[in-house]
Amino acid sequence: MDTSEKLFAAACEVIPGGVNSPVRAWKAVGGSPRFIQRAAGPTVTDADGVTYIDYVGSWGPMVLGHARREVLQAVQNALREGTSFGAPTAREIEMARTICSAVDSVQKVRLVNSGTEATMTALRIARGFTGRTDVVKFEGCYHGHVDSLLVRAGSGALTLGVPDSAGVSPETSRQTLLAGFNDLASVEQLFAERGAQIAAVILEPIAGNMGVIPPAPGFLEGLREITEKNGALLIFDEVMTGFRVAYGGAQEIYGVRPDLSCFGKIAGGGLPLAAVGGRADVMDVLAPLGPVYQAGTLSGNPLAVAGGLETLRQLTQPGVYQRLEEKGQLVEEGLLRAVRDSGITACVNRVGSMFTLFLGVDSVTDFESAQAGDTEAYGRFFQGMLKRGIYLAPSAFEAAFISLAHSPDDLEMTVRAAAETLREL
Ligand SMILES: *Cc1c(COP(=O)(O)O)cnc(C)c1O
Repeated sequence: MDTSEKLFAAACEVIPGGVNSPVRAWKAVGGSPRFIQRAAGPTVTDADGVTYIDYVGSWGPMVLGHARREVLQAVQNALREGTSFGAPTAREIEMARTICSAVDSVQKVRLVNSGTEATMTALRIARGFTGRTDVVKFEGCYHGHVDSLLVRAGSGALTLGVPDSAGVSPETSRQTLLAGFNDLASVEQLFAERGAQIAAVILEPIAGNMGVIPPAPGFLEGLREITEKNGALLIFDEVMTGFRVAYGGAQEIYGVRPDLSCFGKIAGGGLPLAAVGGRADVMDVLAPLGPVYQAGTLSGNPLAVAGGLETLRQLTQPGVYQRLEEKGQLVEEGLLRAVRDSGITACVNRVGSMFTLFLGVDSVTDFESAQAGDTEAYGRFFQGMLKRGIYLAPSAFEAAFISLAHSPDDLEMTVRAAAETLREL
């Protein structure tokens, strides 16, 4: 037994499944999860001292790479002044201003602790603002573990094959209406049937939690039109895409303006911070101004805000997103070459520095085509890559993330490992 295996056995005695978030247990790919001791730049190092090139990036936040000096310094500086006050701080204004100026559609913003809290709050705001009950979500989109949104959700829920979690009451999920990603007609039909009850449409503008799936041309625009016409709000869950695909998120790339947006992951730079923001008139329904209650003991936590602010500041340096795009291109081209040479059926979906290699399918545009992928082959691919020092997400239905710290050499090595692994599959 190596150290990770021993630690996992010990963890399983006191933590359900040995982990604090299900996909970390590697159920979908087999084997024992690596326990991570430390991380630096593009790499993570496990409890046995083995170092891997990392494409999980803490599931998205680490766009600068791990343990970036400036971010650690900012957190250390904040740390000296105390860890939490439960009272407003000047840094929170700076954080709110930063998000508002980064994302055109956001005029006011509230900080919370996790992406889950952000989407939960967005739905409550939408219901409070419109006085309506129902919410449209898309198959395969994941919005955190909010009760009402754990219906045909992506990510861990998808991997484990429990799209509807036990413990969620049917009453809760009855107000969640399901549509197909990239299928405008399915949304039009829901609005035709019960448009007067629909408070909001929520989606990942670029799906990331069933693997990466970009929106089809006209899809986001169509949603904007339908929601506007019917008096429902459009919510972009940019917890993954925000500050990742562009500084202004997916909405900057596609030029569609939602009423509300959710951020997390990169916004906290690896510390627990997320945000919900949008139109000022909508956001002002929140307490203490309005009747929609929302609160948090640690909201706007000084350490998290300091780490997030410094991360976002680093992302305003010129050429950052161009560099991420070039790194993404290098990997995409390399993987496609490796796929061709191996003769395996597979495709790569990518937007900027987030991508997914789907095995066993030649095109993925929605939940159904993502599900058609070969998850067993992915398990073998994952293990083959791990053996060669590449740490991928332990599930076929995830995005891989490239950071600014990944050098061309790291990326070339990854592509070579993929070519070897695919040949062995
Ligand atoms: C990760 C994620 C969430 C949930 O965020 P947590 O911080 O894990 O609660 C919500 N929406 C999307 C799109 C995500 O990728």
